Amino acid sequence: MACYVQKFGGTSVGTIERIQHVARLVEQTYKAGHQLVVVLSAMSGETDRLLKMAKELSADPDDREMDVLLSSGERVTIALMAIVLKKLGIKARSFTGRQVGIVTDSAHTKARVSRVDTERVKGALKEGVVPIVAGFQGINEASDVTTLGRGGSDLTAVVLAAALKADSCVIYTDVDGVYTADPNIVPLARRLEKVSYEEMLELASLGAKVLQTRSVELAAKYRVPVVVKSTFQDGPGTLVVEEDADMEQVLVSGVTGDRHQAKVTVVGVPDQPGIAAKLFGQIAQSSINVDMIIQNVSQDSLTDISFTVPRADLPRSMSLVQDVAKSINARSVEVNETIAKVSMVGVGMRSHSGVAAQMFQALSREGINIMMISTSEIKISCVVEEKYMELAMRTLHQEFGLDASGIKA
Ligand code: ASP
Ligand code: MG
Repeated sequence: MACYVQKFGGTSVGTIERIQHVARLVEQTYKAGHQLVVVLSAMSGETDRLLKMAKELSADPDDREMDVLLSSGERVTIALMAIVLKKLGIKARSFTGRQVGIVTDSAHTKARVSRVDTERVKGALKEGVVPIVAGFQGINEASDVTTLGRGGSDLTAVVLAAALKADSCVIYTDVDGVYTADPNIVPLARRLEKVSYEEMLELASLGAKVLQTRSVELAAKYRVPVVVKSTFQDGPGTLVVEEDADMEQVLVSGVTGDRHQAKVTVVGVPDQPGIAAKLFGQIAQSSINVDMIIQNVSQDSLTDISFTVPRADLPRSMSLVQDVAKSINARSVEVNETIAKVSMVGVGMRSHSGVAAQMFQALSREGINIMMISTSEIKISCVVEEKYMELAMRTLHQEFGLDASGIKA
């Protein structure tokens, strides 16, 4: 008898018919004699709808109350699911975050899980009951409701799978797995059979929306095997697991594009110790996430410093950067909002050289100018003009043999 955690996302439980469909999937696993815990998201669009109502009442709604509000979406789906399962003759029981013992810190709307008290869930499993768990929520030490950040149901599923030492955590969603690139942009993108935790982490933080980034971090830490598959069509999905020797043979596993960045350049900065510390120190203090940084070669003891920030944070960053620029006697501040970051991820890069050079050549053949570059052990990112993002992604996808009909590089 295996133990599975099955998580169903918002579109999978978005209508009454779909809830019935999911109930039948649960029934199959149950009747096959496995132990299972079901984790649900709110119906698709529900969390956004709740958010919008709060924002209509206040531009800056209170975080504690936001969590009370947002956690209501998942209560609806777990109750409905338990109702239909009971009707099908399956012993099911709904559990809120509190009841399932997910204890978090008090960082409302983005709380971190500190521990899980699994007694109740284990008790239910022993009785042959299927726990139907509200994703995305927990309680803090003061018993107030907290939520785990957008997409947090994935985290609930992984946390429970780790705590119960489940055989796997199956994330059911509206796509049939993790792809080599967004198929809407790269039509020849392929589903990956398997991908390492590390690659998945990079892909998730670079904008692949299938899994919440923190859930991947946790899966990696506790070595929880994760499967991403479709609720609506049968198939093997994508396995997210520990790196193996096969994976290293492949240079590039995935290509991503991110349009949510903006580039800021501080021009004519005095080239002195402490200037960068001052600039980025101030930005960090306002918790704006700086991604890439470039400092040009200094001329006449003046230099230019460019960096990228999330486009949404640009207004906030600008007023800050302008202040700091003035205080360090920089000449001016320039902004480019029409950039995009194109990245390639693959554990094979660790053991192969020349990947970056091949990337740059492929982009230059298409006449795409590279404005910034950053690399890590298993990732290379280039900032390009936004209008070239899709072309760049398709070019790299083909260049590195990822196209559906292509031959591996
Ligand atoms: N309902 C929450 C959200 O939309 C959590 C989730 O679906 O994972 O972010
Ligand atoms: Mg999700």
